[in-house]
Amino acid sequence: MNAPAPAVPAIDWARVREDFPLLRRTVHGKPLVYFDSANTGQKPAAVIEATDAFYREHNANVSRAVHALGSEATEAYEGARRKLAAHVNVRADELVLTSGTTFAINLVAYSWALPRLGPGDAILLTRMEHHANIVPWQLVAARTGAEVRVVDITPEGALDLDALQAAMTPDVKLLGVVHVSNVLGTVNPVREICRMARKRGIATLVDGSQALPHMPVDVAAIGCDFYALTGHKMCGPTGTGALWARREHLEAMPPFLGGGEMIREVSFEGTVFNDPPHRFEAGTPNIAGHVGLGTAVDYLDGIGMAAIAAREAELLAHLQEEMRRVDGLRIIGTAPDKAAVVSFLVEGAHAHDLATLLDLEGVAVRSGHHCAHPLMDFFGVPATCRASLAFYNTHAEIEAFIAALQKVRKLLA
Ligand code: PMP
Repeated sequence: MNAPAPAVPAIDWARVREDFPLLRRTVHGKPLVYFDSANTGQKPAAVIEATDAFYREHNANVSRAVHALGSEATEAYEGARRKLAAHVNVRADELVLTSGTTFAINLVAYSWALPRLGPGDAILLTRMEHHANIVPWQLVAARTGAEVRVVDITPEGALDLDALQAAMTPDVKLLGVVHVSNVLGTVNPVREICRMARKRGIATLVDGSQALPHMPVDVAAIGCDFYALTGHKMCGPTGTGALWARREHLEAMPPFLGGGEMIREVSFEGTVFNDPPHRFEAGTPNIAGHVGLGTAVDYLDGIGMAAIAAREAELLAHLQEEMRRVDGLRIIGTAPDKAAVVSFLVEGAHAHDLATLLDLEGVAVRSGHHCAHPLMDFFGVPATCRASLAFYNTHAEIEAFIAALQKVRKLLA
């Protein structure tokens, strides 16, 4: 007889939700339905308390003072780096702490790409990139003479892997690809994509901003050269995040910003830079924020990213099923592998009007171009509404959202 399968501990999601104090508030007299987690996530009390406790009990600058508080602050900051590194399965000394993804991608653009690229080289991007993974490359292209090329997507909002492979020509030096689209929710097969690129000697940068909040991410297994992430979408404070890069890249990269922390010795004759990752962390970093991010990682690991992914898949299935029943509603982004992010439009209604009226019902959704103009152009729309969920959302909130949507749709009809 087979041994019984080990019991999967049931998670009390209503209990988990109670960890988020903000979710108890009302908006315009209605219970808040926060469906804007792709924009920024809400924070559990543990993260708020860890940041608060840092300032109350340990506040000092890092890597400078020999006094007790200085050591405590340094240990807390470096401890957060170690936690985040373990969470994504990389070495802590390959993880540069940054203010978020935007900084992380710009660091690759200025320190890695700028000295390497020139006329005749190409940077390959996908149609579904966030502006943070487009504009830095345009700036690099303008300064180096390299060319930015784009690979298109299917009408469902998935990457066309054949087109992507065909675009990986010998002049392509870097491929920038988003792990999970912030507009479509599409989960890209980054492991396969990076394998294809690696075979052709193309370096890969994966924008993981929207992946970390939703699923287990094993950066080492993805096999990319650079992985950028942001803390505020994964229960951490704003102004936190990281760039992971292969050690050989970090060793070869000159500093991006100069200042304190990133040096070993300074004289007017010349400066000896610090080793990575500190070489790229000039100035006083967001110490309390990263301590909070370390606690966010503990919090997420405490629940388990696999459990979070399963919970969100169930919420997404419910949400999409209900949305498909709303007359005149079009979902933009219907790739088979999706995170809990749903862009939509309602016939005859502008996205901003929809979002404004939904807000009056207590429902927070984002409307606009979502920092993805080229994607809006592809779908031929100026803007969409976007409902983006997290594990702390509930089935009851989905029902409330649909009821509000039905009401608003009639008002706008
Ligand atoms: N990339 C993607 C896919 C995003 O969703 C975002 C945030 N909207 C960013 C990059 C930028 O992240 P941050 O503003 O935290 O730097």
